[in-house]
Amino acid sequence: MVLMVSTPSSTSATSSHLQPSLAAEQVLAFVNTRANKLQPEQFPDAVTLERWLQEHQLMNPEDVLTDTDLQEALQLRAALVVVLLSHLEDPEAVAPEDLQQATAHLHHLARSHPLISLISDTEVSLVPARSGGSAALGRLLGLITELVLTGRWNRLKACRNDGCQNGFYDRTRNGAGTFCSQNPCGALMAMRAYRKRKQQTQQVPES
Ligand SMILES: [Zn+2]
Repeated sequence: MVLMVSTPSSTSATSSHLQPSLAAEQVLAFVNTRANKLQPEQFPDAVTLERWLQEHQLMNPEDVLTDTDLQEALQLRAALVVVLLSHLEDPEAVAPEDLQQATAHLHHLARSHPLISLISDTEVSLVPARSGGSAALGRLLGLITELVLTGRWNRLKACRNDGCQNGFYDRTRNGAGTFCSQNPCGALMAMRAYRKRKQQTQQVPES
């Protein structure tokens, strides 16, 4: 992946930040392979993960994943869900110790699957230092690095519906998105908005 050299702004919601980048779509697709009420686990074994990584151009076709790679990928995914829940900025969405543990886990994975920054006159590419499964995990960590550096990371969130926790991209202008758009969460979100509007209408004094 290639990162353009520029000073990012993590807080400003420019209109370009309201749309997910390719890196955002890739990371969300990875997070949303978990089992939930709507789907079974998408990576029951190393072969299914290998196929998925190759389809998403995160792994060379000649490389083979081990069971250890699978376990580490599942751990990475679990840690990401916790971090995405923390992006909801709802203190009840994730316990501080869970976030601390998830962050420590991401640091551990980053040390095991290092990236090299190849710098040119205008840009920098992050490439995996190792091959095989380590390269695939490194590429996923590289995509996340890109999201942080381009100010999009806090736009990736996990759905507040406990039975769902699907990763989604918050496209709201004020960055207050809480639920994913798939049902029943989308319907739940519409119902909340409807109740809020109704409440506001009722608060208007009659003339
Ligand atoms: Zn949801």
